[in-house]
Amino acid sequence: MFIEPNHNTKHSQPRIGWVEVVCGSMFSGKTEELIRRLNRAKIARQKVEIFKPAIDKRYHDLDIVSHNENSIRSTPVNTSEEILLFAGDCDVVGIDEAQFLDNNLVEVCNKLASSGKRVIVAGLDMDFAGKPFGPMPLLMSIAEYVTKVHAVCVVCGEVAQYSYRKVTSQDKILLGETDSYEARCRRCYTLGELA
Ligand code: ADP
Ligand code: MG
Repeated sequence: MFIEPNHNTKHSQPRIGWVEVVCGSMFSGKTEELIRRLNRAKIARQKVEIFKPAIDKRYHDLDIVSHNENSIRSTPVNTSEEILLFAGDCDVVGIDEAQFLDNNLVEVCNKLASSGKRVIVAGLDMDFAGKPFGPMPLLMSIAEYVTKVHAVCVVCGEVAQYSYRKVTSQDKILLGETDSYEARCRRCYTLGELA
């Protein structure tokens, strides 16, 4: 389990922030882990702001909701620049579904962290084709802390790191839930329909 670092106490210098990335396949618990970290920051009386790409309207316009129905209020954004505008004087910035945002998110996260904020970014590390997704690989490079979480392969019960698409669309973005995707291990992902 990730233990929050605390670099900010008892120093006379201006506090310094950092970037955390939580990545993995669909159903791996990224949103759950993001919500857990943000709730702990709230318990520590830190000011928290949460963002998600406006494209992700799966359950609720303003809430970030995990598959087990944990939720937290968020602000939808169209570009990563908007996060800089809306972050204000908060202590902690949370971003979910970061794979759908633009590559400028790297610069945005660096700016937020350098201005003293803790930045927690969650997102899919691979798309359905097993390719690195959007700004995620770049964010993993610049982050101080990277946590890869795993789902359970629905075919064989192994550790799963792939989001297997059950429908034939080749579009990179196809928002859907249990119906369109399943978590699979390397073997069952590679076997495809034969698994
Ligand atoms: P993510 O944001 O990574 O898509 P969530 O945090 O929304 O994941 O949901 C994680 C939850 O999904 C788990 O706690 C579990 O209840 C549920 N779940 C459904 N299918 C699976 C699976 N194949 N492997 C693991 N968890 C699953
Ligand atoms: Mg999620």
